Parts: sequence; structure tokens; C-alpha cells
Amino acid sequence: MAVEKEGCDFREAPASAGMLNFLFHGLHRGVMLVNLITGREKIALNNVIIIGSGCAGLTSAIYAGRANLKPLVIDGLEPGGQLALTTMVENFPGFPDGILGPELIENMRKQAQRFGAEFKSGAITDVDLSKRPFKITAGNETYETLSLIIASGATARLIGLESERKLIGYGVSTCATCDGYFFRNKDIAVVGGGDSAMEEANFLSRFANKVYLVHRRSEFRASKIMVDRARANEKIQFVTPVVVEDIRDVSKGGVEKMILRNTQTKAVSELPVEGVFVAIGHEPNTKVFRGKLDMDENGYLLTHHGSQTKVPGVFAAGDVQDHHYRQAVTAAGSGCMAAIDAEKFLEAHPGL
Ligand SMILES: Cc1cc2nc3c(=O)[nH]c(=O)nc-3n(C[C@H](O)[C@H](O)[C@H](O)COP(=O)(O)OP(=O)(O)OC[C@H]3O[C@@H](n4cnc5c(N)ncnc54)[C@H](O)[C@@H]3O)c2cc1C
Repeated sequence: MAVEKEGCDFREAPASAGMLNFLFHGLHRGVMLVNLITGREKIALNNVIIIGSGCAGLTSAIYAGRANLKPLVIDGLEPGGQLALTTMVENFPGFPDGILGPELIENMRKQAQRFGAEFKSGAITDVDLSKRPFKITAGNETYETLSLIIASGATARLIGLESERKLIGYGVSTCATCDGYFFRNKDIAVVGGGDSAMEEANFLSRFANKVYLVHRRSEFRASKIMVDRARANEKIQFVTPVVVEDIRDVSKGGVEKMILRNTQTKAVSELPVEGVFVAIGHEPNTKVFRGKLDMDENGYLLTHHGSQTKVPGVFAAGDVQDHHYRQAVTAAGSGCMAAIDAEKFLEAHPGL
């Protein structure tokens, strides 16, 4: 027997210790529910679960909420996603004076809640996509859902310095398109030796007075044409082979210089810069989907016909499936697509 309850239904399973769970933790989605008359447990079945609460996940939640689907959003370890880590966002449409990243993301969250989205903390540790309903595990919690939107984003690789982490949004950036404009006529550095480092250095040279391309080797992983283009750019100066020992000055809340160590001579030097762009790649958050969904060679989810993955009923949105644009507005746009695709899928497949 299935009982409709506020947008999700409850399916029966044999009763066990779940009864105590219900009595102690109360009635909420994802907890075993016990019918005290039949003595059988019931598992909350969601229409749509959204993995991730960055701008892709939150936009999906707004659309799915307005479609009356009562979406359940699993926050992950970074509620709000990458925008929660940054300061001013000047290129999201609708804010002529810009808006702080955390404020923008909080607005989206409130907007989703207004339309009935529910949020749970915790990171997804396993998924069973072999049959519907899909089973989603976050630590000790298991959820079931008729459709799934994956919006788990991609994490920029960092050098690993404490100062780098503390200065993100205060002179350290992982996104030239997002933050280049803030560094007009300034001396800045790009760290990395791949195609994206070369591309970011070239892009940033439009704004900056000088761009130092800092790399730990004198050879580059980047294609020759990209290296040649950067070398031909008179605003770009190569600084190799050096590793970044520190970025100063955390105590002043901004970037003043980098401390570099030459990997051959071991000599330590200072490079005065006002901005540091770390361009050493991104890691899509797709580990739990390995072997279950199609990915490209770097682990980004592959989608077709909008946001569809190879499993019917599973959709992907935002940076987790886009290594090219990686912008808040494109993530939000694809979040909208995924919610509409999920809604159409549920319409066509109303039962299990
Ligand atoms: C410093 C910085 C500044 C930026 N500035 C701008 C800007 O000015 N303008 C602009 O357009 N873009 C900017 N960007 C890029 C923009 O933030 C991203 O393109 C956008 O956030 C991508 O959204 P998303 O929802 O796809 O992923 P993310 O924002 O990365 O969100 C991913 C979400 O998934 C969750 N998650 C991950 N793994 C799991 C898991 N296993 N289980 C559950 N949840 C999980 C995370 O907790 C997070 O909530 C900036 C990025 C950075 C890092």
C-alpha cells in the first residue's frame, strides 16, 4: 500500500528497529516510518532529490518546487557551493551594483524554500541507480526517489597553502572570468602550467598591468600553441621553475606578494603581486557515480538532450557536467533545464 503524504509517498517494508528510530526521531523524510497498526516500516519516497545546493541545485529546487514536486535538497559539505566562498559577484544578471556571493546564494535558498523545497545536511556517499526508486545514501541516512538531479559541482584544485585558503575572495581566485575585472592595472600571478593556466594568463592580460605565469617546472603540460601565444604576449612574464611557499599577507586581509622557491637553486624570492589566480585544474565531485553514469576522461558527467544522463530519471546540472563555462548563470540555467526535464520525466513515468 502506498500513502500519499505531502508530495512523497510511503512504501511498506518489514518492521524492525526502525520503529524505535521513528519514535525517537519523529516523522521526517528519509527516516523509516512505522505504521503502528500493521507494524510495517514505511520508507519516504521522494519525487525528486537534488544533490548539491550551489546555484545549479538551488535553481533546480526553485523550479521543482514551483512544479509542486516538493524537492529534497542534500546540501553536501559546502552548503551554497562555490559562490558561498566568494565576495562580490558582478556578472549575475539582475544586480547592477553586484551582489555578495553568500547573499546571492542565500536569496536562492530562501526562494526555493518558499516553494516547498526541503534541505538536509550531509554528503552523498553511495547511490543505487540500477532501478527505480533510486537509493541515495548519505552516511547513515538512506533516501529513495523517483528522479534525481545531480548538481554536485566541481572543486578547484588548490596549491594547499593555509594562506591561499584564507585569502580566497580577497586576492586569491580560481576563476579568471569571474574575477579578472577586479584586477585592472594591477600586477598579478597565474599559477599553473596547463592549457587553462595559459588561457587564463592571456585573458587576464586584458585587464592587468603585468601577469606572472608561475610554474614549478620549466616545461609545460599546455599545448605548444597555447605556450607560444602566452610567450608572445608582452604583458606575460614566465617565472619558472618555482614553487609557491606562501602568499602574504593574511594579517592584512589581502594579497601583497608571493614567496617563491626555485626548485633547482633552492633560492627563495619574493614576487610583489596584488592577485593570485590558481589555475591547476578542477575535480568534478562525481566519485560516487563512477561506473554508474557516463563520464568524460576527467570525470565530468556526460549529458545529452538537455540534462539527461544515461540512466532515465537521472539528470545532471551545473559545473559537474560543464568544464567549459563554469559560471553561476550557466549553472543556474542548466539547473532550470534539469528540473523541467525531471518534471517531464515524472509526468511520463508517474509510478515505479
Ligand atoms: C572563488 C570563486 C569565485 C567565483 N565567482 C564567480 C562570479 O563572480 N560569477 C560567476 O558567474 N561565477 C563565479 N564562480 C563560479 C561559480 O561559483 C560556479 O560556476 C557555480 O557555483 C557552479 O554551481 P554548481 O551549483 O554547479 O556547483 P557548486 O557551486 O560547486 O555547488 C556544488 C554543491 O554540491 C555539493 N556537493 C558536492 N559533493 C556532494 C556530495 N557528495 N553529496 C551532496 N552534495 C555534494 C556541495 O556541497 C555544493 O553545495 C566563482 C567560483 C569561485 C570558486
